Amino acid sequence: MAKQNLDFRDKPINLNERGGRKWVYAKKPSGKWFTRRTIFSYVMLLFFVGVPFIRINGNPLILLDVASRKFIIFGAIFWAQDTFILALLMLSFVLFVVLFTVTFGRLWCGWACPQTIFLEMVFRKIEYLIEGDYRARLQLDNSPWTAGKIFKKVLKHGIFILISVAMTNTFLMWFIGSDAWFDLITSPVQENLSGFLIMLLVSAFFYWVYSFFREQICTMVCPYGRMQGVLLDSKTIMVTYDYKRGEPRGGRGDGDCTDCKQCVSVCPTGIDIRNGTQLECINCTACMDQCDKIMHVTGKSPGLIRYASEDSIKGGHSKIWNTRNRAYSVVLLIIFSFFVYTLVTRPVIETTILRTPGLLYQDHENTISNVYNIKIVNKTHNDMPLEIKLISHQGEIRMAGNTMNIKDQDMFESTFLLFIPKDEIKGDKTEIEFGIYSNNELIETYRTTFVGP
Ligand code: SF4
Ligand code: SF4
Repeated sequence: MAKQNLDFRDKPINLNERGGRKWVYAKKPSGKWFTRRTIFSYVMLLFFVGVPFIRINGNPLILLDVASRKFIIFGAIFWAQDTFILALLMLSFVLFVVLFTVTFGRLWCGWACPQTIFLEMVFRKIEYLIEGDYRARLQLDNSPWTAGKIFKKVLKHGIFILISVAMTNTFLMWFIGSDAWFDLITSPVQENLSGFLIMLLVSAFFYWVYSFFREQICTMVCPYGRMQGVLLDSKTIMVTYDYKRGEPRGGRGDGDCTDCKQCVSVCPTGIDIRNGTQLECINCTACMDQCDKIMHVTGKSPGLIRYASEDSIKGGHSKIWNTRNRAYSVVLLIIFSFFVYTLVTRPVIETTILRTPGLLYQDHENTISNVYNIKIVNKTHNDMPLEIKLISHQGEIRMAGNTMNIKDQDMFESTFLLFIPKDEIKGDKTEIEFGIYSNNELIETYRTTFVGP
């Protein structure tokens, strides 16, 4: 076990004695892991900004159009009727995250989470640039308001506000698409007052999170962070202090840890990794880099803090694969295969025909008519000329307006009247069946009811 110093469990590290906020002045990280993370973060940032502009068959790479209940994920379009397939995809994703976390800990938090990327790689870098490293920032915050301090603070917060607005606009494009976003921002504000106010609020929220709330999102709010207690175990690989090698620390024995506390000073959540795995650790690797520098100076081998599991530190050679993650992998494989199967075999068109609510039937001389609403989703990447016929009975369909020529990945909605001869109707509710044809080929049938006297 690591050296038992349990004070850190008394209260969150970023709260002072009176329960108020204690600002974390993290030292600017540097080193091989930070360089790797920086490169990876820039790729992720490019992805975040680029997604609404990358097109596959004319559609964005990812679109989460909640209002129209249309979701595009890597080119595949999911409509409201595909909720089941989408649920399978979500379930696969959740299982993947669980499997990944069980095996590799909070790798996501340190490397790919947008909160970490924006905070550590965008906002904090600007802060370092304007206000300097941790000591200079602490000094600046505790100094009186001079012209120099006001300039630095106004400059920093001005840039933070601009980035927050840019983030909100990019975020919005993920939900409405780049074309609709462009229409929105080029139309007068009064035409879209509610949308404008929402964007203002979201921008203010981003600004507040990255300027003031910061690491508390990870340590106090994020549900994924709270799940770590149940997902991590002694076989999970995470940023770990090798207490066997490091203790006794500070020159009180032959332990490698010099007790310099550099690993603490660089930690963005303000914790001491030497106390063991903690919920606040986002596995950002900053302490690994910092400790490696100390090991270099003291002539010891690097890796006193490294990616390792508790079991491997204890001495045993823990393998990455164990019963737990094998079981998760099997379940994930089954669910993901089922998702792929349902995606590949889903019908090329999806038809919904429902009697118009509130309308019963109309009695004509020899016929009875009902009014129907029809909705057809074309899930192919080709335009489809479609025709609807009643195949269960004699009858005539009169479509209001539009011809049924549906563009690729588009939706058609209309209303039609169905006339059925009275002698074909047996009761007050008759089961009927429609056929949807494309170039005279039956591609889908739809059963519904016809009401009569
Ligand atoms: S940086 Fe390394 S040597 Fe210094 S206190 Fe942390 S673990 Fe010990
Ligand atoms: S303990 Fe190390 S890896 Fe964890 S958050 Fe702090 S600096 Fe990052």
